[in-house]
Amino acid sequence: MNENGEHKIPSSPDVVVIGGGLAGLTAASLLARAGRTVLVREKRGVVGGDARSTERDGFTFNQGPHALYRGGHAERVLATAGVTVSGGKPPVNGRLVFDGRVEIAPAGLVSLLQTRALGGREKVEIANVLARLPRLDPAVLANVTVADWIAGVVDRPRSSQMLHAIVRLGTYSNQPGAMSADVAVSQLQLALGKGVLYLNGGWQSLIDQLAATPGVHIAVDDGLDALPDVPAVIIAAGGAPVAERLTGQTFAVGAPAHASCLDLGLRRRPDENLVIGGDTPFYFSNHSAVATLAPAGHFHAAVVHYLAEGESPNAEDLMAFARHAGVRDDDVIVSRRLHRMTPVTAVPTASLGGMAGRPTVTDSGHANVFLAGDWVGPDGYLADASLASAEAAANAALAVLDATVSR
Ligand SMILES: Cc1cc2nc3c(=O)[nH]c(=O)nc-3n(C[C@H](O)[C@H](O)[C@H](O)COP(=O)(O)OP(=O)(O)OC[C@H]3O[C@@H](n4cnc5c(N)ncnc54)[C@H](O)[C@@H]3O)c2cc1C
Repeated sequence: MNENGEHKIPSSPDVVVIGGGLAGLTAASLLARAGRTVLVREKRGVVGGDARSTERDGFTFNQGPHALYRGGHAERVLATAGVTVSGGKPPVNGRLVFDGRVEIAPAGLVSLLQTRALGGREKVEIANVLARLPRLDPAVLANVTVADWIAGVVDRPRSSQMLHAIVRLGTYSNQPGAMSADVAVSQLQLALGKGVLYLNGGWQSLIDQLAATPGVHIAVDDGLDALPDVPAVIIAAGGAPVAERLTGQTFAVGAPAHASCLDLGLRRRPDENLVIGGDTPFYFSNHSAVATLAPAGHFHAAVVHYLAEGESPNAEDLMAFARHAGVRDDDVIVSRRLHRMTPVTAVPTASLGGMAGRPTVTDSGHANVFLAGDWVGPDGYLADASLASAEAAANAALAVLDATVSR
């Protein structure tokens, strides 16, 4: 960037990265830190993709509620890219809604014993699953659907509903009949391990740092509809369809997961920080409880409806769920509805071999073109998959550049 804040566009970059979301900017940052000339082409008018945040009346809204999984690939790769992550770990204790009644959510042994949401035999079933979870090898469940895994580990309907609710929360997906259980188990292991972080200043704080990496050049224009003629290309343009158009390949991937989101800027602290739907696919969380996302004395909460395939969202349902957390209409200063978001562009499925069955960074069909995104590579899920593949794509591009020089 020059002294006027404008990006100087290199005429012959070593690498062009197509897409300026979290994956593209991370790949670009890693390449620039390795001394390569890199140009990011972004078509949307602004970088950041689904990791952007928006300011509304002093509140910071992510593109739907975002949590960074501690101990996951995103945290590791961001550290490699020199990005500082600051935020707070939300408490896991909260409430669970079954049959419209708000009960204690079982977040540990004490709350599991206390809750009236589950009967005695259901508590034993859930306790057994949670006790075994840390030692499970997710890979052995790659060909098993979430629904079949849950049916195999609990008998009672309420226990099953409870596990489906926990999996929805950890995977941002409501496709238990298709999603592979390796995703569910690895996400729950991360969540129950080091937990998650809500980020101060939203995920925009990551985007701003990555975009400011010295040597990262960004062209915000119409994007690219054809592969550029440069030594190496990384396609990090969101889901598989853009990569298919650019490469001429067809990629076998699962269906996207959709969610409807409501951001709330509140003048009063909600009565509850976390409420999970036990028999309905909803989530409420006060993100400002642990992260700087609201003006002093105000609060930012988010509500999500995890949509099943083909399901249409209803705005009223989101606000109705927020009322379980004690949010009243006159608490709301500003709200923003994101009707139908795509947290996951391609859910890993049991029929395609789970996470390990996803296309790899080198599957583009072109020796110098590499793929990155949440649908690419065997590692991680959500942003963890985007950044694990971004790192792998950057390393593959570096190998091509090194080979070109030494020839
Ligand atoms: C509601 C919601 C909640 C989420 N919550 C979480 C969470 O809690 N934890 C988590 O880990 N992850 C979460 N995610 C996922 C996370 O945001 C994404 O995995 C990550 O941001 C994806 O980054 P990306 O760069 O791979 O793709 P994108 O963000 O889609 O970026 C791709 C970019 O490429 C651009 N582009 C497309 N086509 C072209 C073209 N032809 N030329 C140039 N540019 C192009 C697009 O405009 C876009 O900017 C959530 C996502 C959503 C939507």
